[in-house]
Amino acid sequence: MNHRYSRRGLLGLTAAGMVPWLSAETQDADLVVFNANVYTVDSRTPKVEAFAVKSGRFVAVGTTADMKALIGKGTQTFDAKRMTIVPGFIDCHNHATGNVLLYEVLVGNPYVVEFVTIDSIIEKLRAKAAQTPPGTWVEGYFFDDTKVRDNRLLNVHDLDKVSKDHPVVVHHRGGHTSFYNSKALEMADINKNTPNPPGGTFDRDANGDLNGRVTDRATGAFNRVGKRATFTAEQTAQRDRDGLAYISKQFVRYGLSSVHHEGGNLFALQQVRARGELLHRVSYEASGKVLEAMIASGIESGFGDEWIRLGATSEHTVDGSFSERTMALSTPYPGVQPPYKGNITETQNDLNAWIERVHRAGIQVNCHANGDVAIDMVLTAVERAQRLFPRADTRPQITHCTLINDDLLRRIKAAGAVPAPFTSYAYYNTDKFHFYGEDLMKRSMAFRSFLDSGIQVAAGSDFSPGPFAPLMGIQGMVTRTGWNGETWGANQRISVEEALRINTINGAYNSHEEAIKGSITPGKLADFVVLADDPHTVDQAKIKDIEIVRTVTGGSTVYQA
Ligand SMILES: [Zn+2]
Repeated sequence: MNHRYSRRGLLGLTAAGMVPWLSAETQDADLVVFNANVYTVDSRTPKVEAFAVKSGRFVAVGTTADMKALIGKGTQTFDAKRMTIVPGFIDCHNHATGNVLLYEVLVGNPYVVEFVTIDSIIEKLRAKAAQTPPGTWVEGYFFDDTKVRDNRLLNVHDLDKVSKDHPVVVHHRGGHTSFYNSKALEMADINKNTPNPPGGTFDRDANGDLNGRVTDRATGAFNRVGKRATFTAEQTAQRDRDGLAYISKQFVRYGLSSVHHEGGNLFALQQVRARGELLHRVSYEASGKVLEAMIASGIESGFGDEWIRLGATSEHTVDGSFSERTMALSTPYPGVQPPYKGNITETQNDLNAWIERVHRAGIQVNCHANGDVAIDMVLTAVERAQRLFPRADTRPQITHCTLINDDLLRRIKAAGAVPAPFTSYAYYNTDKFHFYGEDLMKRSMAFRSFLDSGIQVAAGSDFSPGPFAPLMGIQGMVTRTGWNGETWGANQRISVEEALRINTINGAYNSHEEAIKGSITPGKLADFVVLADDPHTVDQAKIKDIEIVRTVTGGSTVYQA
């Protein structure tokens, strides 16, 4: 396969010259796009006016006149009227929680900045409680503590207003903290004297009483209590299928043509594809039973095809969260008493063993590490595994890789590791960065530092924690200015061109797929996005508002405005 791609890649170099031996492959193209402002993200032909697609792949790029020569009887044409076209966007870290979006109570907006009130949250959950038998969980999703008009944290008293007979929980969209009512705390047998478990906390108010906020590993205490809605196997399968089909539509609406899924129902994913409802390509990142099955049966990363491929593992979590302020720092959180350095959720020994096992199995390692302490731990384990069992070009993924320093940069580069920092956060979460302060923000989501160190950094929205809109991500990476007008870590700004690379070809590199996608190059999969405006020239504060006119995967239009 690779030989074919690289041969076509060479053809691409000379495609504009219309050499005769090109014609067999390109004549009667399926689709010719012309009169466009195309950023190919291919340094050999960075800007072109037109390209041709056949059998789901780009077959030639060049001038409008050259490409029009490839129009045959059955060729579709698309006059882009000077609109901008870029390769399809690639998100390297996404929880793809389609069934939550479709079936659960959403107490915040998953996609854009929107403020809600605590009353609105109570209202929505009350309505849910009214149709839920007592003793069964009432759950809310997509809470964001800094997108609340009341300007304070949700607490146990708020949630007691929802119900005294149901256990009630509101999950922070970040996924590392949840808020419980008194009934839930009582059912889990948690009281003001309960000690914090390792790697988590039961938070207390000024009087030492439980305030309902529970972090990281401490939330495990609630898994064993209360009833949860149950579904038959067929109902569960149907919900998973519908959820995946639903989120696929949302992805392409925002220009994503490839997304790395953190686990999920692999069987349902294949069924959605078979029905023609999978509109984006999936790098499936396995955990649990699927990962164990891969190891047991000798299936390495890369197995699958260009629509569903087994990629790295799911993120193996080493520390807490950036947005919820539980990530593991080497210095205490500014202004927090008693001194708090975040949560480490894994011992070095356990991490060493896990990484060694996955690495030996030929599966791409992927760890969630936010704080500098956690990134150090991951690199220590990766370096150890490489010493014990050297393998070439493994590209260990460090998901988030938020807070770096010069020593970590050196070791990331040496290990050939591929970070996928938060993208939309620089726009969406500026309301949280004062918790860290400018000194730490200068070293956080450090796209400039990664590029300057020659590290293949990619984009990881971490949906649901972060919105997945790539243009929101690009705006934040370029401006480092958020919705509230605050700018943090301006030293980490990058250019639009660099942000585009990170969101396309570097994403392909992250899953070892740079030979088949990530740029508009003859031989590669015909995944591209038509934009109403050019992010290189539009006001940088409006990049996120550029309309996605069309998203195309494999030469087929999967979204049209
Ligand atoms: Zn994640």
